[in-house]
Amino acid sequence: MSEDQKNERSIWHVYQGKLGAPLTLAVLVFVGCLLGILSRPENHLASLWLANATMAGFMLRVPASVSPLGWLLSTLAFLAADLLTGSGLFKAGILTVANLMGVAATYTVYKRLSKGAIGIRQPMSVLQLAIACACGAAASGLVGAVANPLLFDGGVLIGFIFWSVTEFANYIGILPVILSMPEPAARARRIVINSAAPIRWRGMLPVFGLFVSCMGAIVIGGPGAIAFPVPALLWCAVTYSVFVTALLTLMASAWMLISFSHSLPYDESLLISLRLGVFLIVPGPIMLSSVMQSNNKLLVTLKQMAARDGLTGVSNRLDFLDRAQEQLNAASSSVGVMMIDLDHFKEINDTHGHSAGDAVLIAVAGRIQRCLRSSDLLGRLGGEEFAILIPDRSAEELIAVAERIRHTVADSTVGLPNHRSIPVTMSIGLVVVENGNGLSIERLLIEADSALYRAKSAGRNRVVLSGAPEPVN
Ligand code: GH3
Ligand code: MG
Ligand code: MG
Repeated sequence: MSEDQKNERSIWHVYQGKLGAPLTLAVLVFVGCLLGILSRPENHLASLWLANATMAGFMLRVPASVSPLGWLLSTLAFLAADLLTGSGLFKAGILTVANLMGVAATYTVYKRLSKGAIGIRQPMSVLQLAIACACGAAASGLVGAVANPLLFDGGVLIGFIFWSVTEFANYIGILPVILSMPEPAARARRIVINSAAPIRWRGMLPVFGLFVSCMGAIVIGGPGAIAFPVPALLWCAVTYSVFVTALLTLMASAWMLISFSHSLPYDESLLISLRLGVFLIVPGPIMLSSVMQSNNKLLVTLKQMAARDGLTGVSNRLDFLDRAQEQLNAASSSVGVMMIDLDHFKEINDTHGHSAGDAVLIAVAGRIQRCLRSSDLLGRLGGEEFAILIPDRSAEELIAVAERIRHTVADSTVGLPNHRSIPVTMSIGLVVVENGNGLSIERLLIEADSALYRAKSAGRNRVVLSGAPEPVN
């Protein structure tokens, strides 16, 4: 492990600790508050309030931060940020209560609904998250109903609606980003892209499309403009990971909200409608991205399962033929193909039972695999027959490998489930070609098979090279 990796891990561990986690939580809350307060219009709620959603998200992801100390330090962080930026103790106190009630409700509801599966791993998570955000928003709204007349000379009902909507917009925009944020050690490709495809310049097109549609929304304007980025966001969702989709959706929503709030006349009900409209777009792309992500994962698992032999774990017939043909087409130097058949295998089944036969197949496949390099291919063609393709080796080297395989099986007995051990031998037919290009793997296997047949006829437990006048031994 490199020094950098060690440092990365230790940083991750600090904020997982009993003291480190609550402290990190409080620092995040404090910074989130300062950013929110600085962007807050005179005498009103901030357009984008990072602190609450960040706090709820961090608590969900780092359980060590959820402690009396975590709550105490975060309360102090909320109060300190407001007091330091000029609010009186009364106003700071009410705002802090509203923030903490919202965080507590969002955290509790999502933790219950998701049953501990915190990250956005399935499409249902987005729905659960939306419900949790609505509960958190309503909790803050209750404080808003009391606070609006006291702090801003407003009405009770409008206080409830305005605070709830603002909080809902913040939670639904920011929480998915935090919950889907990859661990520090995650690989870059998995952070960005939502498929196994490599990242190319075309992978940037959805972001470009999003930028153009956000610009178009501002230039054209009007009530329909908030829907302009939706197609580009859906394109992002099918291309990028849930985390990147959530981040782009948040950026687009915040951009739309800020630009439209400036161009509209100040009117509370208009602002409520705008905030709700902009942020109700958020769950769609994130849900689509998580559907794509779980489908892709399922597809990878299914492909892996479809390519493996269920008993021995090596490639099955189809997968071996596919990959061997690919290797043959790409080969520029000599290639060896072997057909392997266990000797008198039926007797093993008949004497010791089918499960003993299975144990032998598993052990033999493992022993063969250990004689091969990672570039060599091993497949179980069926029954007790295996095939191997080995690229870039001379005929002499290939005969040596075949002999090594034969010996590794024949020289020590195989243990059975009934604790007995039996000797097992195999016959191998080998064909070597100078250049694989233009040859079909099926043809080479037929040739290797006829060499194998000669090995059987010559007494078994031996290697025969196709085309050689006599068996190798
Ligand atoms: P030879 O030396 O000529 O190859 O004789 P053999 O007995 O190995 O050949 P034969 O083709 O007569 O027998 C192969 C046996 O392999 C018959 C079949 O029951 C058994 N077999 C095929 N697939 C499996 C499997 O998945 N598990 C087990 N235990 N046996 C299998
Ligand atoms: Mg056979
Ligand atoms: Mg056999």
